[in-house]
Amino acid sequence: MNTIQPGGLYAPLPIPAYQVLARMKDHQAQRVLMSIVSHLGLNGRESYPSYTTIAREAGVGRNAIRKALDVLVQYGFIKVFTIREGKKDRNKYFIQDAAYNSGLMNKFAINNRTFNASCRRCGAGMDRGGYGLGPAGATHIGCGGSVKIWTKDEKFQQVSVVSYRG
Ligand SMILES: [Zn+2]
Repeated sequence: MNTIQPGGLYAPLPIPAYQVLARMKDHQAQRVLMSIVSHLGLNGRESYPSYTTIAREAGVGRNAIRKALDVLVQYGFIKVFTIREGKKDRNKYFIQDAAYNSGLMNKFAINNRTFNASCRRCGAGMDRGGYGLGPAGATHIGCGGSVKIWTKDEKFQQVSVVSYRG
């Protein structure tokens, strides 16, 4: 089992989400997500950089930020809440579990994953975010079954339909 939680000992980089966005070639959404993540507090899942800050860090304009946020919300990687701060509205961003765990991704995100492993027990296809490495080898995070990792030369075979939430 993977016992290291996002925001724990290691930098909370949502690598499974980055991989999906890379596959979509949506580098603007990737950079916007990176900016939001870099403002997370210790052990936190929420951050509230301003549009000005995101624009500077991600190198994109305000319209591109809006577009990127739409993608990140649709793919279930973040939730956005607007809070009143003085006379201004401010966005608060909550990073979702699906950004860290491809087993929790919704149907939009899952269609953009590349599977390189499959579960011997339940047959689910998965990428690196879907299994953990334990003493008994690769283990499917979803069902605990042992995982076959396919090499480049082997053709990935999915045994059954992949299930997803959302
Ligand atoms: Zn399984």
